[in-house]
Amino acid sequence: MSDDRPAREVGGGLRFLAICLPYSGHINPTLGTVATLVEDGHDVTYILDPRWRREVEATGARFIPYDHYPQNPGPLTRSLAAPRRAFATAQRLAAEEGFDALLYEALFSYGKALADALQLPAVRLSSTFAYNRPLLEKLSRTGGRHLTSVLRDGPLYRALSKHAHRKGFLQSPDFITEIVDNPPDLTYVYTSRSFQVDADAFPDDRFRFIGPSLNARRRDSPAGLDLAALKRPLIYVSMGTLLNKQRRLYRACIDAFAAAPVSVVMSIGQHTGAATLGALPPNIHVYPWVPQLELLRHADLFITHGGMNSVNESIHARVPMLVIPQGNDQPAIADRIQELGLGMRVDPEHANPDQLRAASESILASSSIKTQLATISHDMHSAGGNTRAAAEITRMVEAQRTRNHDT
Ligand code: UDP
Repeated sequence: MSDDRPAREVGGGLRFLAICLPYSGHINPTLGTVATLVEDGHDVTYILDPRWRREVEATGARFIPYDHYPQNPGPLTRSLAAPRRAFATAQRLAAEEGFDALLYEALFSYGKALADALQLPAVRLSSTFAYNRPLLEKLSRTGGRHLTSVLRDGPLYRALSKHAHRKGFLQSPDFITEIVDNPPDLTYVYTSRSFQVDADAFPDDRFRFIGPSLNARRRDSPAGLDLAALKRPLIYVSMGTLLNKQRRLYRACIDAFAAAPVSVVMSIGQHTGAATLGALPPNIHVYPWVPQLELLRHADLFITHGGMNSVNESIHARVPMLVIPQGNDQPAIADRIQELGLGMRVDPEHANPDQLRAASESILASSSIKTQLATISHDMHSAGGNTRAAAEITRMVEAQRTRNHDT
């Protein structure tokens, strides 16, 4: 959809403003929600890093890049500039044209303050767990250096919080209080209530668990990959799209399964050339990217970093997991998988060929993991997905519009 689209018809769809920070794991699931809203006849304007134009426009939404944003920001610039630029872009746009509601992904912690400043109903889309204080505290302990620096109470955290509060980006005195104690009207979480940690802490009137976001996905397969022709069991290996420079781990998988009666498909990302992994045995197939949902339909075991999207997709497809968490929320997610009996956790320092093979054999042979998976997978399937989210969001925003109109 281009910027010069026709004006909304009277009685037509709603106009949503959507915002996310530039991290693929957070953006990807929101694209399915946006695509469903567009299919339902609504207009969505999505404010994001300029590099995501193609993916956003593929949903049918209008794409608006962050104003005054650097072409190729480094990680620090990105984490500091993106939220402020997103906030300012939304303010500018909302002053120029009207919107009916704000949708924001949970990592954009300025979302509630922005919605209130624009006097719009707010919907938060959460690509990872919904967070309460104990879970955020766990993340600050287990998520590695970056999460510790942004979540642990210390001089940096206090300075960033104070600045954001003073600028009106947060209504609470600090980030954690804002996330936990100042929730928007509705939060949609892309997992099932049964997979959520501490689920009872998140009341249904504000927190809805809708399962994985499976629509609006790239589906192209790499040339030569015929999943149905591969010998079973099929082991799928992926460390996701961010922390996937894992040459040593990919090599360990090759050594673990080269002589085993299994097929292995590995998605190794764009940064590790397949040639650097050495000679590949005929049962091991390596690609920079694969259509993961399709892979999971054929896989018997998923060796994963434990990214929330991958894990939700794996549970949905009833594929047991061997989780090798690399950082961020992955260690907490790996613990949840182990706690619910959906797979096993092996830490990166123990991920040698013998361990990987032994853990895989034990997971593949486990009937209790299959039983547990069937239960949680059923919950994922019946959680309603983006169809439910779009219908409920529409009802909530329309009810609010009617109330405003009547007063
Ligand atoms: N993915 C994919 N093909 C690949 C690798 C990843 O389709 O070869 C998708 C996967 O289905 C998931 C997302 O990329 O939806 C990865 O998200 P996740 O939260 O698991 O990890 P992240 O990349 O954010 O670390």
